Amino acid sequence: MAIVVQKFGGSSVANAEKINRVAGIIADKYSEGNDVVVVLSAQGDTTDDLIEKAHEINKNPSRREMDMLLSTGEQMSIALCAMALERMGLPVISLTGWQIGMYTNSDYSNARIKRIRGDRIMKELDKHRIVLVAGFQGVNKFDDITTLGRGGSDTTAVAIAAMLHADLCQIYTDVDGVYTTDPRQVKGARKLEEISYDEMLELASMGAQVLHNRSVELAKKYNVELEVLSSYERKPGTIVREVVKVEKTKVGGIAKDTNVARIAVVGLEDEPGMAFKLFRVVAKENINVDIILQSIGRHNTKDISFTTSRSDVDRAVKAIEAAKDTLRFEHIDVATDVAKVSLVGLGIMSSVGTASLMFEVLYNAKVNINMINTSEIKVSVLVDEKDAERTVQALHEAFFEDEG
Ligand code: ASP
Ligand code: MG
Repeated sequence: MAIVVQKFGGSSVANAEKINRVAGIIADKYSEGNDVVVVLSAQGDTTDDLIEKAHEINKNPSRREMDMLLSTGEQMSIALCAMALERMGLPVISLTGWQIGMYTNSDYSNARIKRIRGDRIMKELDKHRIVLVAGFQGVNKFDDITTLGRGGSDTTAVAIAAMLHADLCQIYTDVDGVYTTDPRQVKGARKLEEISYDEMLELASMGAQVLHNRSVELAKKYNVELEVLSSYERKPGTIVREVVKVEKTKVGGIAKDTNVARIAVVGLEDEPGMAFKLFRVVAKENINVDIILQSIGRHNTKDISFTTSRSDVDRAVKAIEAAKDTLRFEHIDVATDVAKVSLVGLGIMSSVGTASLMFEVLYNAKVNINMINTSEIKVSVLVDEKDAERTVQALHEAFFEDEG
């Protein structure tokens, strides 16, 4: 007997028929003799619809009331699914975040889990009940409802799996696993049997968005084995865990991120402390910086370019402009029509020739590189957005489709 946590996404529980299918999957796991805890998301577009409803009434609702509203979507799902399992004659109970003691901080709409009391879940499992838990929600120290940020139900599931020391945490979704690249955009994309947490973190930030990033971080921290699989086809998905057996290729996948922009601060004085002064200004705005490039000084000036997410660009530029007196640059150049393409794989930088093959592929595809960044597990290039899809395609062909 094992403890299994299953999570079903919004599209998997979108209507009565789908809820019945999900109930069937849960029933099978339970009938095999496992302790089963299930985390559900809100049905289909419910969360978006609720946000729209709120804005019809108040364009600027308080975040507390917003969380009060958004948490209802998940509550609907667990009650409905419990009813489906009841009808099948199975012992089941649905519980909200508050009922399971899911404590978070007070950062409404983006709350972080602090601890899970867990005694209620344990008691229900002892009674051999299937426990359905509302994803995405918790309570703060005032017992007010909070939500974990969009896509947060994955994190709920992993946190519960960690608390219960579950044997497996299955994330059911509408795709059948994690792919070498976004299968909607690249025909030859293929499903991975296994992937490491670190690779998953790099791949999650792009296209397919199979898993909430924080859920993967949490899984890594508590060593929770994840399986990403389809709720439509009964077949194994992709396992996300720490140790991955070494395959022929070191490359695990290719990620594309179009939510990036490049800011170039041109004509800074070429003297010590300029990078510090510039990035202190940016950090004060709480803006994340990704790739950084500094040019060689010439005629006593230098340029520093960096990337941020597109939504942060305006704030970053404003803050830098406001500090012009201390930074004394010539001008700022902003490009939002760029994209970051990353080759992701364990130990990729220590695998001789991988980066050079990547650049050769880009050269052959006549793609111009704006910036390059490397880490232990990825090589990223910043390219024009119009070239991004072609870049992914060419890299995928070179790294995955020539293997035979
Ligand atoms: N229902 C929430 C959302 O749509 C949480 C989730 O689905 O994970 O973002
Ligand atoms: Mg999701």
